Amino acid sequence: MIYDAIVVGGSYAGLSAALQLARARQRILVIDAGERRNRFASAAHGFLGQDGRAPDAIATEAREQLLRYPNVEWLQDRAERAEGSQDDFSIITSAHGTVRGRRIVLALGVTDDLPDVEGLRERWGQSVFHCPYCHGYELDQGAIGVIATSHHSMHQALLLPDWGDTTLVLNGCFEPDDEQRAQLAERGTAIEAGRIKRVEGRADLMMEDGRTLRFAGLFVLPRPRIAVPLANQLGCDLADDELYPFIKTAFTQETSVPGVFACGDAARSAGSVAVAVGDGNVAGAATHQSLVFRPRETGRAAEPVSLRA
Ligand SMILES: Cc1cc2nc3c(=O)[nH]c(=O)nc-3n(C[C@H](O)[C@H](O)[C@H](O)COP(=O)(O)OP(=O)(O)OC[C@H]3O[C@@H](n4cnc5c(N)ncnc54)[C@H](O)[C@@H]3O)c2cc1C
Repeated sequence: MIYDAIVVGGSYAGLSAALQLARARQRILVIDAGERRNRFASAAHGFLGQDGRAPDAIATEAREQLLRYPNVEWLQDRAERAEGSQDDFSIITSAHGTVRGRRIVLALGVTDDLPDVEGLRERWGQSVFHCPYCHGYELDQGAIGVIATSHHSMHQALLLPDWGDTTLVLNGCFEPDDEQRAQLAERGTAIEAGRIKRVEGRADLMMEDGRTLRFAGLFVLPRPRIAVPLANQLGCDLADDELYPFIKTAFTQETSVPGVFACGDAARSAGSVAVAVGDGNVAGAATHQSLVFRPRETGRAAEPVSLRA
């Protein structure tokens, strides 16, 4: 048996793509390993109509609605390998053997690698964040510490003063030049040159020199990683972004490999729940249309995919 489409990743992007395909009466399979990127946070913000709701509650309700369609199947599993080409892809799973699909949608999300600072990971999503729009407002204009990882931390250090008094803690990872110091001064961001020993309490930085710097919240730039092997096995081109490589897609969310679509954080340089849902919606419709408007044997190009009838 061969599915019309297999969606790998059953979080916001994958659920959204799957919903479009389900409503187009395609026979689909969703494979999900259950490790949503925001599972460390107790509330998700900035998603219209769901602001402040638990991330898991949003995904669980979406999944329940999806699974009401009889043409959808769900595997709680991990896709380990992918091979094949348009109209006959195979996915080898950890626990359920091999499944086949005519199209693949990669909605893999990313995994965040945090800097090696004691006490940071335990507080990730609770009092340590990366996205001011998601969690800045709840700090109630309290003091904010930005833990520098590289010159990219300038972005957070210049943005965050709109949410509270901000200090850029260099931690031996970055030395701003004169121009950057002037930019920070203009935004009112203080610079702390010391090194961090560990994080304690809610967001207290215990410094190597014995001082304690107390903050309402900390921000840091993680290094996101996509599940590269799966995209590589299928031959998808990756975008060579400065922060991390992500899967390159066209406006239809189709990758460089015919029949493989990608959406959500794995296919863009910065994401959110709203954007993942939007990308997934486009990917689902485009995947369906690629099953209808197919290249003919004559070698002529396929009918162009337009996303709406
Ligand atoms: C701490 C934190 C807090 C955040 N808070 C917010 C917020 O308040 N508001 C907001 O808009 N955004 C927030 N975000 C960002 C948000 O989590 C992401 O933008 C969003 O989850 C992206 O959705 P996605 O579907 O692309 O990926 P994900 O939600 O990460 O889901 C990817 C899914 O694919 C599965 N998967 C991966 N590889 C495989 C495989 N090989 N086989 C099977 N399944 C696989 C994973 O297990 C996972 O279930 C936050 C992020 C973090 C880290």
